[in-house]
Order: sequence, then C-alpha cells, then structure tokens
Amino acid sequence: MDKRNIISNKSKIKILFLSAEVTPLAKVGGLGDVAGALSKALAKLGLDIRICLPFYGLIDQKKYPAKKIISQLTVPVGDTNEIIDVYQTNLPNTKIPIYLIKNNFFNPKKIYSGGRIMLDGKYTRQPDDLNRFAFFTLAALATAKKLNFQPGVVHANDWHTALAADFIKTLNQQNNFFAKTKTLYTIHNLANQGLTKGKNYMAEGVLNSDLVNTVSPTYAKEILTKEYGAGLEKILIKRKKQLSGILNGIDTDFFNPATDKFIKRHYSVRSLAAKSTNKTALQSQLGWPRNKNTALVGLVTRFVRQKGVDLITEKFSRLNCQFIFLGAGEKKYEDALLNLAKKYPRQFSVKIKFDERLAHEIYAASDIFLVPSRFEPCGLTQMIAMRYGSVPVVRLTGGLADTVNKKNGFTFKKFTASEFYKILSQALKIYYEKPKAWQQLKLSGLKQNFSWDKSAKQYLKLYRKPRRIDKIKNFC
Ligand code: ADP
Repeated sequence: MDKRNIISNKSKIKILFLSAEVTPLAKVGGLGDVAGALSKALAKLGLDIRICLPFYGLIDQKKYPAKKIISQLTVPVGDTNEIIDVYQTNLPNTKIPIYLIKNNFFNPKKIYSGGRIMLDGKYTRQPDDLNRFAFFTLAALATAKKLNFQPGVVHANDWHTALAADFIKTLNQQNNFFAKTKTLYTIHNLANQGLTKGKNYMAEGVLNSDLVNTVSPTYAKEILTKEYGAGLEKILIKRKKQLSGILNGIDTDFFNPATDKFIKRHYSVRSLAAKSTNKTALQSQLGWPRNKNTALVGLVTRFVRQKGVDLITEKFSRLNCQFIFLGAGEKKYEDALLNLAKKYPRQFSVKIKFDERLAHEIYAASDIFLVPSRFEPCGLTQMIAMRYGSVPVVRLTGGLADTVNKKNGFTFKKFTASEFYKILSQALKIYYEKPKAWQQLKLSGLKQNFSWDKSAKQYLKLYRKPRRIDKIKNFC
C-alpha cells in the first residue's frame, strides 16, 4: 500500500459518491471538476471511493470503454418498476470505479435538459430532470446493494442527488443494508435547487443528511443570510451545527504553466519573464499589435447573472489596457460584451464559446484576471489565474474572499460598476508604475498551493464524524 495513505486497510472508509457530472466523462462546470479531482485526492488518502454517474448518451465510449457488470436490475419506483443495466469504467488514470447507470432516462446527449433535444433525427422532449435525477439516486443505491458495497458514507452533491438521505431512511425500513451508512450532502451552488411543486430537493438534502457542507468557508457563512440564502437560509440556520465550508482545490497537473500543452511558452516561478511570450502570441492571434508592455486583462466564465459581467460597462474603455473575454451563456450578457468589442475593437475581444485551449491561453497571457461575481460558492478561475501569474481582481464574496487578498490581488466589496472600475484602475496603476510591487503580487499567487490534498483531508474528517444527534423537524 502507498506510504502516503493515511488510513490502514482495516479502517478503509467506503464512500459512494453520487454526482450528475464527473470530469472528464461528463462536465458542464465546476461540479464535474470537483467530482473528478476530489475523488482522486480521496483515493490517494486510501479511501475506497466509488462514483455513480448516469450513463449519458454523450459519454464517449471510445475514450472511456465500459464493461457491463449488472444486467436488468429492477429498481422499484413508487408503484412501478424500472430496469437498469450498470456498466463500469474507471476514472481515467486511476483505479476508482465509476458505475454508469443505464436506463432510457439518460440516453439523451445532454446532461441537463433545456427543453427539446434532437434524438435520432427527431426533436424529443427531454424527460424531466427532477424525475431523472431522483431515479438516478435511487438506482445508484440499488446498485450499491446489488454489488454488496456497504458504504460508510453516501456523499451526495447538489440538488440532483439530494434525495439520497431521504431514500436511505426509507430503504432502511425495508431492510438494514444502509443501517450504518452516514450521509454527507455538499452544496456546490445554492442557486439551483431542484424545485417542483411541494418539493425542493436541495432543502431535503440539507434537512435529511447527517452532515452538510459547501465549497468555501465564507460561502458557508453567507448562505445563512437572506442576501445569499436563496430562500433556504432558515433551513440552513437549523443545520448550522452540521454545516461547514471546505475550499475546493484545482487540478494542479492540468493547470500548470510549466507543462500546459495548450500554451505557446512554458514558464514557472523561476522563469516568469517567459510569460510575456504568451501575451504577444495571443495579441497576434486576436489581430492586435504585439506589445508586451500593454496590460492584458482576461476573463473566462459562464456569461450568467451570477458572474457579474454586467459590471463591465463602456466606461472601462477609458482604461489603458486590452480586454479578452471568453464565455457563453445568456444572450443579454453576451450581446452587451459583443457590443463593446464592436465599438472598441482594438481594446476589447469577446469570444462566445466553450474553448479549453483559449481558456488556458488567456490564463497564461493575461496580466490581470477579472472575477466580479454577485455570489461565488468557491470559484476556480481566480485560483487558476494565480497559478499562471495573472493577478486577480475580484469581488469580495464566497470563495473569492477566501482565496484573494491584498498580498496576491485586488478586491472590491460593493457590487457596483464604479467600485469595480475604481479597483481595476488601481491595479493598472500599480502594474504600470510599480513593477516591483507587481512582481510580488504575481509571485505570491504563483507560490500558493491550490492542490486538493488539504481539502481532501478535511473531507476525510467529515466522513469520520459521528452521525447527527439532533432531531430536526421536517421544515417543508
Ligand atoms: P462555475 O462552476 O460557476 O462555472 P468555476 O469558477 O467554479 O465556475 O469553474 C469554471 C471552470 O470552467 C474553470 O475551469 C474555467 O476555466 C472553465 N470555463 C468557464 N467558461 C469557459 C469557457 N467558455 N471555455 C473554457 N473553459 C471555461
């Protein structure tokens, strides 16, 4: 056994990890990254972790070949029965099993439904996500039972699998397979709750799970307030004693300027000057003159309300810098940014798409990185930016407040365009007028450790905590 493992085989904790996304098999955003990277870090600690994921039609079966391990398993759902097959693949480059639950519910080529989808040449309405994910959760538990995998902890994530604790209670009334199983529920984003008439999946997860956590210490406090609680603050306050915040890490192998396969020139703390080659390369690519002295300001995000891109106004064109924005999302935010690029083409470049390569190029090329979020459970982009020596300018909220400070970046509190403008102006002033201070800012970001190792140990502590003792009355 690996010497780094801190758990002996005897006490190996068994974890059943339920997630709607797992990178690299099926990813939409941060949830997938966390599921993939946290599982790896937990396995490194010696845990027996097994992941359950729906067998979506979009999973590339050539890249991730899977073997059928269960045929035609009956899963009782209310008064009817559904049949599933279960396939197994491993998380790439690990021995962590991923159980892929196959059922017609998950055939569509999308992870989340967005109305109608094209299937076999015809438009079909995607089955309701609420039912699909409730079924997935039930099917995952049935799979564990069939495989005789008796988990010490079922770790559910976000609203999709929030009903796990509820289902376990019901299943334990039938037999005692999960009698010793604890439940941990992780909130990755309170904004999506899985709401249906008379039921809120997120609320059920918060109320019924033994322990609850979210993805940064500051967000764990913020969600107890009306401003950030998204209507669930009262429920969350009831679980305050069992609620904690564990900061996400980033995949420091995938995001590494010294080895990154997407960028023009590699660099590290010791060869930071080489970073500017990436800037001039990107300037050329965008059709701008190459000038390594001009400050390049980057932003990579989903263009949605949460991310605060509406704080970037026309006034920003007065600043002495170039802007490169990459993202996709709601049309109104896309259009507002595209208008800036149309009006000031030599200063703003806006790319509307999901593009992993360009994202890495921006992290490597930029001097400053913007994250003006309205709220931010954790946020990965500010950490990635720092790892690439790009100095973050962020709103002081959630995980941004836990990772960015005066030593490694710039923060503003009040969510207004003028505050954001003011702090970005200050950052640019230091960039142009105080090169030594700027170098220090870059270096302190670059030297930080954003790996998952520390956070995985905190999850391990939660897994080892005893079951909840207080009895919460059902709030719904
Ligand atoms: P969220 O999970 O709310 O979308 P995070 O900051 O936690 O935000 O994670 C965003 C991740 O997705 C980062 O790895 C970021 O680089 C990546 N990303 C976001 N938008 C794009 C895009 N348009 N192209 C490539 N990568 C993107």
